[in-house]
Amino acid sequence: MSIFVTKSFLPPKVEYQKYLDEVWESHWLTNNGPILQKLEAKLKDFLDYENFLYVSNGTIALQLAIKALELDGEIITTPYSYCATTTSILWENCKPVFADINEHDLNINPELVEGKITEKTQAIMATHVYGNPCDVQSLEKIGQKCNIPVIYDAAHAFGASLNGKSLLAYGDVSTCSFHATKVFHTVEGGSIMCRNKELFEKLKLYRSFGHVNDDYFTQGINGKNSEFHSAMGLANLPYLEQNIAKRKVVSERYDQLLNFNKLFKPYSKESGFEYNYAYYPVVFESDEVTIRVIENLKKNQIFPRRYFYPSLNKLSYVNSQDVCPISESVVNRVLSLPLYPDLAMEDVDRIIEIINQTI
Ligand SMILES: *Cc1c(COP(=O)(O)O)cnc(C)c1O
Repeated sequence: MSIFVTKSFLPPKVEYQKYLDEVWESHWLTNNGPILQKLEAKLKDFLDYENFLYVSNGTIALQLAIKALELDGEIITTPYSYCATTTSILWENCKPVFADINEHDLNINPELVEGKITEKTQAIMATHVYGNPCDVQSLEKIGQKCNIPVIYDAAHAFGASLNGKSLLAYGDVSTCSFHATKVFHTVEGGSIMCRNKELFEKLKLYRSFGHVNDDYFTQGINGKNSEFHSAMGLANLPYLEQNIAKRKVVSERYDQLLNFNKLFKPYSKESGFEYNYAYYPVVFESDEVTIRVIENLKKNQIFPRRYFYPSLNKLSYVNSQDVCPISESVVNRVLSLPLYPDLAMEDVDRIIEIINQTI
């Protein structure tokens, strides 16, 4: 059996079925239905955050953020993230300006962000890469000093916390993805959170075509999600804690047995941080070694992921002149190793052995 970088968690079928019975009873399939409202209330409670919206995916959440903040200029962002972080900026007719990342956590480097600020800068969009927190204090300071919002793509951060607060609760706006591959998922889905109440009301309108019943207020988009997706969220949420605990066991096995003289694992320096064990990324010494590791794992039907690859400033359609040596080097040497709750320990040991023998 092939082993992929992740395997989506599914709750016991009967627990999902219970919500389906409610849908068949109500015939309410989408448009802010009762199951969605229940999920939103649970997530608000879990995150301890009031201005929270459940949306159709994490990418639309980023686009809604840019649209609602009325950004149309330069956004300073990270070259080391999933492509959606950059493409949402382009899709909303803004210009991504790339500031390189730190060596230790591969998150955007606040000093380099500061160096990229000009009168054209309208926002900062950073990613909590692998669920490790950005330097939120420094970024917030820059945001305040320059009077620009800080947006976090917190797609990896659900279940992680910093100083007793969900990592999703940091920033002027923060978005999350509940895609099937994430720690907590609703098959497809996402969320957007913001500090400002007015902005929140605007986002709520934008999510649903800009109208409420027969009152047409503004131009919006369809960012809603369905009762079926919400049901998956409600069925999955009770398993979050135990899934994170199981991910932790796998991660600790890698920690114990991988040969760290020959590879490097990104880590957070923040104190008061609790990880969600979303990913297990490792960075090898050279491009050649990385390719060899991929090949040797593949021979054993094991498929890690080049996550992230490529460096976003190098995408052909971005046309960026920014130079980001750290990101551009790491993307050729990084692999996310298989990590999911029911990954068997024999398989973890096999992966470790193959890697240690190759490097
Ligand atoms: C998954 C992911 C997204 C996109 O989320 P979708 O829900 O798939 O649209 C955006 N940014 C990052 C960093 C991601 O990992």
